[in-house]
Amino acid sequence: MGNMSDENTREYVSLAGAAAFPADIHQTCGAGEKKILLATPRGYCAGVDRAVSSVEKALELYGAPVYVRKEIVHNKFVVESLAKRGAIFVSETDEVPHGERVVFSAHGVAPSVYEEAQERNLLTIDATCPLVTKVHKQAKRFAHGEYDILLIGHAGHEEVEGTQGEAPERIQVVNSKEDIENIEVRDPHKVVWISQTTLSVDETEEIVKLLRAKFPHIIDPPSGDICYATHNRQKAVKTIAPQCDVVIVVGSANSSNSVRLVEVALDAGAGRAYRVDKSEEIQEQWLDGAQSVGVTSGASVPELLVRDVVAQLKEYGFTCVESVETVTEDTRFSLPKNLRADLMDVGQSPDRPHKVRATTLSQDA
Ligand code: SF4
Repeated sequence: MGNMSDENTREYVSLAGAAAFPADIHQTCGAGEKKILLATPRGYCAGVDRAVSSVEKALELYGAPVYVRKEIVHNKFVVESLAKRGAIFVSETDEVPHGERVVFSAHGVAPSVYEEAQERNLLTIDATCPLVTKVHKQAKRFAHGEYDILLIGHAGHEEVEGTQGEAPERIQVVNSKEDIENIEVRDPHKVVWISQTTLSVDETEEIVKLLRAKFPHIIDPPSGDICYATHNRQKAVKTIAPQCDVVIVVGSANSSNSVRLVEVALDAGAGRAYRVDKSEEIQEQWLDGAQSVGVTSGASVPELLVRDVVAQLKEYGFTCVESVETVTEDTRFSLPKNLRADLMDVGQSPDRPHKVRATTLSQDA
């Protein structure tokens, strides 16, 4: 592929931040021209950017190995690239040797994981996304108030496990509409729902409606739990989908928000929608008869993978690229406190050198 970056060199390119897209983006393509509609915003969110930068900075500052509990973010390329630089990914903290340094992933961890890390004298860097931490705090507060908490989310997902760990005796996971029938609570006047941050906005609304029908006194979380990045990426793909014969979502199979983008694209009217980890997975027959292909990416996907997909599509004849921007974003999170302090101690700036694409909380987030 002509302008695809070289595999061996780009693994050392910073994974963080969304680099500017090449300049050949048009406002509008000519009639009859086969085109790519690039959904904006897409890719890295502030929480992923912070988490990936935390591992990169830790490797630079303390040297390899740096242990990481679970995938730092759900993206194969990111995880493989960091592993090549010396990050060691483990499933649980008991796999980390005593006294070593471990990074907790963006998805957050249950309190028991912090306790275990303390028992093993591990040096921790907590890269939990602040928006996930916000949901943990809600869970703790409502559990303290003796509420039954209905956590809408995917059972088994790391974020859900972490949130549920805040008050396992008070939290029930609602995976789907079908689960609602069997939910029992202690006091129907003391029920609240909260949610995973990366769900489908529309599907969650439907589940909440059904919960409200069963528990009319159910309380909403003080602010929506589905994060700004999930909202914005779904809104962007919904905008382009009706104009697209095919939508390609770049993202890994275990990335909840990437998988949701495929569903949202189909619901919003895309002819067909596929998820790929990388450009090589695109099958030419997916594009048969297509005039316009939409491209977007999940919140854990570095922009260079999107560039590769666009380059591949150009080779298949989709030569004109239009960017369709629905929301401007400028959210940014600082690195974890102890990492910032260690960076400052050695005279390094705790701010990241790259620029994060401008972002703002969407009004409906
Ligand atoms: S998708 Fe949302 S909650 Fe998850 S890391 Fe990104 S900003 Fe945080």
